[in-house]
Amino acid sequence: MSVQLSVLVHTPAHSPLAGPLTYQSELPLAPGTLVRVPLGQRETLGVVWDAPQDTPTTWEIKPITAVLSGLQPMSDAWRQLVGFSASYYQRSLGEVALSALPPQLKGLDATQLERRLRRKPLSVESDTEQATTSPWALPELTPAQAEVLARMHSTPTHKGPFLLFGATGSGKTEVYLRAVQKVLEADPKAQALVMVPEINLTPQLEARFEQRFAQLLGADFKPDTLVSMHSGMTGPQRLKSWLAAHQGKARIVLGTRMAIFASMPHLQLIVVDEEHDPSYKQQEGARYSARDLAVFRARLENAPVILGSATPSLESWHHSRPAAEGGRYLRLEMPDRVGGHSSFPLVRRVDMNHQPKGAVFSPPLLQAIQERVARGEQCMVLLNRRGYAPVLQCSDCDWKSACAHCSAFRVFHKTDRTLRCHHCGFTERVPRHCPACGNPDIRPIGRGTEQLEEHLSELLHAVARPDGTPVRVARIDADTTQKKGTLEAQLASVHAGDVDVLVGTQMIAKGHDFRGITLVAALNPDGALFSSDFRAPERLFSLLLQAAGRAGRSPDLSAQSEMWVQTHHPQHPLYAALKAHNYPEFARQQLSEREQSTLPPFSYQALLRADARTQEVAQGFLNAARLAATQLPAAEHVSCFAAVPLTIQRVANVERAQMLLESTSRTALQHHLAQWHTLLHALKKDPAHKGVIRWAVDVDPLAI
Ligand code: ADP
Ligand code: ZN
Ligand code: ZN
Repeated sequence: MSVQLSVLVHTPAHSPLAGPLTYQSELPLAPGTLVRVPLGQRETLGVVWDAPQDTPTTWEIKPITAVLSGLQPMSDAWRQLVGFSASYYQRSLGEVALSALPPQLKGLDATQLERRLRRKPLSVESDTEQATTSPWALPELTPAQAEVLARMHSTPTHKGPFLLFGATGSGKTEVYLRAVQKVLEADPKAQALVMVPEINLTPQLEARFEQRFAQLLGADFKPDTLVSMHSGMTGPQRLKSWLAAHQGKARIVLGTRMAIFASMPHLQLIVVDEEHDPSYKQQEGARYSARDLAVFRARLENAPVILGSATPSLESWHHSRPAAEGGRYLRLEMPDRVGGHSSFPLVRRVDMNHQPKGAVFSPPLLQAIQERVARGEQCMVLLNRRGYAPVLQCSDCDWKSACAHCSAFRVFHKTDRTLRCHHCGFTERVPRHCPACGNPDIRPIGRGTEQLEEHLSELLHAVARPDGTPVRVARIDADTTQKKGTLEAQLASVHAGDVDVLVGTQMIAKGHDFRGITLVAALNPDGALFSSDFRAPERLFSLLLQAAGRAGRSPDLSAQSEMWVQTHHPQHPLYAALKAHNYPEFARQQLSEREQSTLPPFSYQALLRADARTQEVAQGFLNAARLAATQLPAAEHVSCFAAVPLTIQRVANVERAQMLLESTSRTALQHHLAQWHTLLHALKKDPAHKGVIRWAVDVDPLAI
């Protein structure tokens, strides 16, 4: 007698086989059990799901190939998390479940897995043993840290979510360390998940967690007690971390957004550091927000969740308004920096209307940088555009370095003399003559970080460091950090004081605990003030405040640190709030504007996107979808806007369009989307829309 099972396998997002498939098995298997099953011509990994639907009798039901019996079934909470994510973000269950498992697990058959599981863990590294023998003490908490921890632990009825609103340098990491310590000490099985937005930030945090827990746990700190999970890891590394977490050996999992799906049977705490960071939103496949899923998962697991930031997302800020006004998160504040000396940087706005026209560096900013480096202090200069120049132009005819495949210009990179498209990657050598008219005089227009580095080296040529040696300018951006390990090396040279001025994109503004930086400058941030994206000011404010947070972190430097902003709109309220280091005031301004125009968090949005060879086809599909939507029962509660091309409408010869849906009720929008989905599948099959290459729904989109 065999039983029937419903099993999730990885099916393409929009395949008709969206739900679980039915297989038979000799033995009943618990939901969550991992199995190998035949699928078409191949064998694949599957997850036993709930009871099978009505048996389709028209086709043969295949037996499963094997049970991965060495592994515990996936927990109920994990399955609920997957189920919720699939339905909320409008993707298939199979896709979400299987992408939440490490890729290498999919390639292992039952025997290979058995062999893998028998492998002995490495012995404890000797340096961690040494750490346990040297005397140490926990740092004394600041009053603010002690207060925050006390409030978290004294409110058993309020299990969170907690919004830790702590200034840059206020010691949020110490709060995370103590909160994790507390759950691990209270239960020998407890596990904690700590999330960071970017891979770049993991080594730093990993080092702090490792040092602390190696000391605290002593001999109990094994090589897999603390594991990482991020996309920069190799397949075997990811599998190793995943297994350690799944088997409960990993007490702490530290990772980027993907870690939200980690299998952690004894999960008791989730920390989301820099919770405002857009990197928590997945931008392809199931476009989930790991921050939002963290809140959902914490509730499922009955575990507290701490969202930490100096510039919370306006959503989280709004959720943490007083409970009497409907707030659901508990806001905990740490307004001051650790240690009295390291005060916040003074914000200086340079009115560019009164500076020499076309100057990259206003004279007062340049002078300030010169003085600082001459004193042996470090400076950081931000420009959100990499490459040498965003476009090359012929001085004679109209030719510009447009990309042949995108509606964008190719960027001039001087180091390797290429024109590179940042959207599709199309790269060519810089032509010697204008391709259109043969004129040899083709010029860079505008400025990127590469040019800035060159320009600044020239400007600082005559300045010497205190020891008489020449000033060193370095650049960190996506171009200088492509090779593995280069970023770490570059950061290390900044930390070591080998660099006097660091030039870079927003990459350098986040999270790094640079000690010697006393001046941070944003050269040209105005663009975001008047962007059509309603979230642009929020991102700008956060970037600038985080960047300012890189300055003046060392208590040993007596100099007043500064954040310089070059702007044509010095009176803009955003800069006024920045000057006052007043995030709450900024949030108040923004939220009141958003409320007036019923934008999130006062409404809920989703995008339907379509790609096709022509705009007409892409928009045709969207508009047909819009028409179909009007017939749905929830239609009156959901506004559906007309299809529009994306800002960069063509990428790699594909035309892109989108359509916005908005509702003041999340539930109504969800119902609407769920019903719409079936219509969309049908519509896509219609020969009229055969030119549509792909479509996708983005729920709670970050960029409109
Ligand atoms: P945040 O994450 O809030 O920006 P950090 O956690 O990086 O701040 O803390 C800033 C600095 O203060 C770090 O160098 C950290 O080691 C130090 N620090 C944090 N808490 C304490 C404490 N209680 N006593 C002494 N130093 C502390
Ligand atoms: Zn020309
Ligand atoms: Zn291109």
